[in-house]
Amino acid sequence: MNIISNIEEMQQTALSLKRQGKTVAFVPTMGYLHEGHASLLREGRKRGDILVLSIFVNPIQFGKNEDLDSYPRDRERDCRTAEACGVDIVFTPDSAAMYPPGFQTGVTVRELTLPLCGASRPGHFDGVATVVAKLFSIVQADVALFGRKDYQQLAVIRRMAADLNLPVQVLGMPIIREADGLAMSSRNSYLSPAERQGALCLSRALVRVKERYAAGERSADTLKDVALAAIAQEPLATIDYLELRDGATLEPLQTADNGTILALAVKLGQTRLIDNTLLGEEL
Ligand code: AMP
Repeated sequence: MNIISNIEEMQQTALSLKRQGKTVAFVPTMGYLHEGHASLLREGRKRGDILVLSIFVNPIQFGKNEDLDSYPRDRERDCRTAEACGVDIVFTPDSAAMYPPGFQTGVTVRELTLPLCGASRPGHFDGVATVVAKLFSIVQADVALFGRKDYQQLAVIRRMAADLNLPVQVLGMPIIREADGLAMSSRNSYLSPAERQGALCLSRALVRVKERYAAGERSADTLKDVALAAIAQEPLATIDYLELRDGATLEPLQTADNGTILALAVKLGQTRLIDNTLLGEEL
């Protein structure tokens, strides 16, 4: 496994592999890898001749009062995980090289970034779309794998790739959860034991809504109330947003059906966690 930090070297390596007829599967991450990331890497291993993992804590997708400085990092452990998943190249650029003085270009995806995380984190998806566009170009990705855990992010990247005619296939992968239902996240490491327990309210809310939906309830307001009640039972939790929307357009709706997304962001103490589920599908 090769570790490359230099952007030019990464791009030249990728271009020369492409000239040899190789395809590149790409998994972009912010590191502190867990089983969710590993699932993307294992699928990526099957999807391309060369598997590239990027680890980059992207400063432009963090708000002023967010956790850029405290974001967990463990490069050695990440490299062991990457190696075990069959990664060929770990790309670890640094911020100064990604955003040199004079940098002034951004990618904005419009309507899809207005609700949900886009509303709570202004500018976040501009930062995500911009860095992913740069990374696609640097690593010459043919296939890129993203988790459905970040449902809106996946929708934004798909839209960007289509709108900008990027020659990359964007694949969405299932959410990987702990045995008790908590969606895996690098940010789970921030949780105190009590908050870790309290964080179960996110997946519990999703399960309760799925049960009501399976029992025939279709009113989005009623289903939303079921989820709100589940979160309200947890004293350590405060809701950032909790919404049912069309899974494709992310537009609000009155009547739920298969393909409706229930997405939520909840804070446990200082830690903001997100989760979601598509109605009519397994959690
Ligand atoms: P991050 O390092 O948090 O930016 O995530 C990198 C990629 O891993 C994104 O495509 C995420 O959606 C994906 N990911 C993070 N957590 C999970 C999870 N629990 N299950 C599946 N994919 C995940």
